[in-house]
Amino acid sequence: MNPIVIIGAGPVGLIAALRLSQLGVRTIVLEKNKTPQSELRASTFHPPTIEMLDELGIADELISIGLKTKHWQFRVHETGERALFDLGHISTDTRYPFRLQAEQKELCRIATKKAEADNNIDLRMGHHLNDFAQNKERVKADVSSESQADYTISTPIMVAADGGSSKIRSIMGLDFLGLTYPETTILVATKFPFHEHTEGLSNVNYVWSNWGTFSLLRLPNVWRCSLYPDVEETIDEAIKPESIINKLKRIIPNQTDFKLLEIRPYKIHQRILDKYDYGRVVFAGDAAHLNSPSGGMGMNGGIHDAWNLSDKICGIVKDNYPLSRLSLYSRQRQKIAQDEILKNTDKNRSRMQNRDKKSRAKELIRLQNIASTPDEARKFLLRSSMIEGLKKTEQIT
Ligand SMILES: Cc1cc2nc3c(=O)[nH]c(=O)nc-3n(C[C@H](O)[C@H](O)[C@H](O)COP(=O)(O)OP(=O)(O)OC[C@H]3O[C@@H](n4cnc5c(N)ncnc54)[C@H](O)[C@@H]3O)c2cc1C
Repeated sequence: MNPIVIIGAGPVGLIAALRLSQLGVRTIVLEKNKTPQSELRASTFHPPTIEMLDELGIADELISIGLKTKHWQFRVHETGERALFDLGHISTDTRYPFRLQAEQKELCRIATKKAEADNNIDLRMGHHLNDFAQNKERVKADVSSESQADYTISTPIMVAADGGSSKIRSIMGLDFLGLTYPETTILVATKFPFHEHTEGLSNVNYVWSNWGTFSLLRLPNVWRCSLYPDVEETIDEAIKPESIINKLKRIIPNQTDFKLLEIRPYKIHQRILDKYDYGRVVFAGDAAHLNSPSGGMGMNGGIHDAWNLSDKICGIVKDNYPLSRLSLYSRQRQKIAQDEILKNTDKNRSRMQNRDKKSRAKELIRLQNIASTPDEARKFLLRSSMIEGLKKTEQIT
């Protein structure tokens, strides 16, 4: 049988290829860029994702360059009051009771290296899917690359892991239902050591302040801060280094030396396909669903899609299950994305965008009560660590 074709060598395409290889299924992965991803994107790996990476033999390398984060918090900037969540409460639920703070680009680097050394994976960097057509037997994909003449490949199943602006989705004319949130988030990377200037900071902090909201996420050698334009500011004004430094000075007064490494504005979408399988074409990751980064579930959820989908594809290719296994994948993962990922990240975003002091204070007390009650904390952390979603997936038939 011809190899499975995967479009996109982001985290989702790469993990699908590695998992399929482990299950004995050959793939061709087409990535339009010539080099692995290098942008500032996901920074948190949740426990079940680390377990999957461990099964693929790539967790140790990522852990060795990341920050094991056992606690994370919601916090009030001016008073330092906080609800501190301790992943020790889920230490019997996972081998990895921590969030790993590491960059998506590091995962892509490690996974690309592993894929390149894998005989079951034909990773073609710099190869662009231009068009495709499917019939009852196969998908035919038209590909171009600078290094050779345009060509067509034939595959029994094509995995669309081609990201948020999926070309496959637009060729098929599929509705990507949902909304774009009104605010623009400004992601700032700086070497400034916030932890040396703020008492009791964790590596992951969601912060309310009198003047708005921000998050502070620590990665090896760098802090990432999510900021928002002031009410009277345009985006162009807000992304100027002077404006960013003024905002950072509100967080840490009397400092001037913030050494800005990167300033990146972006809009946040909450969108999802109403199903993921369309004949022999099947969607995973950002191509299938987009959500607020608040809570760090996008890439993690995409990797969970890749894991589930690989098992279904293996069943079809090796154990003669019917193609309708792809519908089971869709039923399982679309539902979990909708009910767990989109819903929880939307809640996280609303919580942090709330500017009303009284309801913030009430929410902080509620979160503190949860964090300090072991059973409640465990339930909360099973959800925020995406363990609950994976358990619910198994119950969908
Ligand atoms: C600022 C920010 C912070 C984030 N933080 C987190 C976080 O902490 N935790 C988390 O879980 N998620 C986070 N996310 C989300 C995460 O980055 C995405 O969910 C993740 O990148 C999705 O992976 P993917 O493989 O589906 O898509 P992508 O990473 O977008 O990869 C798609 C790949 O397909 C390739 N491609 C596209 N079209 C074609 C074509 N026609 N032919 C060949 N190749 C093609 C692209 O070049 C790309 O490499 C964050 C996102 C942003 C923007």
